[in-house]
Amino acid sequence: MLSTSTSVNSPLDPRYRRVQFLRSLLWVLMVVSPLLALLNQLFEQHPTMVALEYFLFVCGIGLYIWLRRMPGAVIVISWIVTAILALAIGIYVALSEGQSYALYWLAIFPPVSYFLLGGKWGFLTSVTFFTGIFIYLSRVSAEWAAAPFSVHSFLNILIATAALIVILRHIERTRAEAFHFLEEHSQRLEYIAVTDPLTGLCNRSKLDHALSVALTRAQREQRDFAIALLDIDHFKKVNDTYGHQVGDLILIELAQLLRSNVRSTDVAGRWGGEEFLLVLPEHTRQQAVMHAERIRNVIAAFEFHAGIRITASFGVASYRAEDDASSIIRRVDKALYAAKAQGRNRTISDAQ
Ligand code: GH3
Ligand code: MG
Ligand code: MG
Repeated sequence: MLSTSTSVNSPLDPRYRRVQFLRSLLWVLMVVSPLLALLNQLFEQHPTMVALEYFLFVCGIGLYIWLRRMPGAVIVISWIVTAILALAIGIYVALSEGQSYALYWLAIFPPVSYFLLGGKWGFLTSVTFFTGIFIYLSRVSAEWAAAPFSVHSFLNILIATAALIVILRHIERTRAEAFHFLEEHSQRLEYIAVTDPLTGLCNRSKLDHALSVALTRAQREQRDFAIALLDIDHFKKVNDTYGHQVGDLILIELAQLLRSNVRSTDVAGRWGGEEFLLVLPEHTRQQAVMHAERIRNVIAAFEFHAGIRITASFGVASYRAEDDASSIIRRVDKALYAAKAQGRNRTISDAQ
């Protein structure tokens, strides 16, 4: 499953964090192994162990360079690193014969293998590794001498814990990044679900929701509310004369006018095509008509793209006790139809 380096370098690629993790793991290897070798030379003079630690150092450098040049080889390198780690810890445990708290290093293996190989292989390799180690220990540990707590034990625990912290920090950062990514993504999806892509206003489904919320509230608390439906006059002619793209620009500008002429508690949205709906809580019919008239005058006075002038017709309907969404929409539609029939560029309410 090797792939090109470009995709692995993208934070959206699932292997990206693995590459980052491998890099810091190899860094840890490059720093810790010569340090351990040095300690060994100073305190224990165990030549095989020193050789093993320098071997790990060389492996770290080699793999680091390989990964830098070919990030696409991350899966193969992950397996190699896991195998080297298992081997190194195994040899170290065997050579140290339980001295200096060497067994503490076993704790490094599961988090590394889980992160590098994923849940299934992380589990399988960890179980295999620990089974192997315990079989070995059950055979030899009886012959081992008692292990006093020495300076080397302390340093060993310190270095292994530092390595463990680096690993866990990486795992935590990956979790936090994944969470952040999902959060951003779900916010974006939420935005898309309620937004009209052309105008940025609420879409039809959000308007349906706003209308049902307003209806429930009006029924429960006996409050006034009204809706206004706006339809641009002779918009087909605008499209025919200036082109569809200019028509789109005018819809965007009109949406901006609506946005700046409603209160924060009102909801303005695109009902469809060149029709816009306003949900106006706490508005009586008269207030809604006045509000619609104000917006109608703003539209009529506004110079749109390329100096184009348009007008719009408004229908207004106010809440009645027996209303549901379809009955109030039917009345606002009828009022709008009447506004068109009576010559356009006017507001007609469901009282007339
Ligand atoms: P009326 O005054 O009776 O409303 O006339 P009208 O031409 O506006 O009405 P009609 O419903 O016959 O035409 C609406 C036009 O709106 C037709 C369609 O091309 C245009 N339209 C609908 N949606 C869009 C859009 O997203 N972009 C553009 N540019 N035009 C659109
Ligand atoms: Mg229309
Ligand atoms: Mg129209």
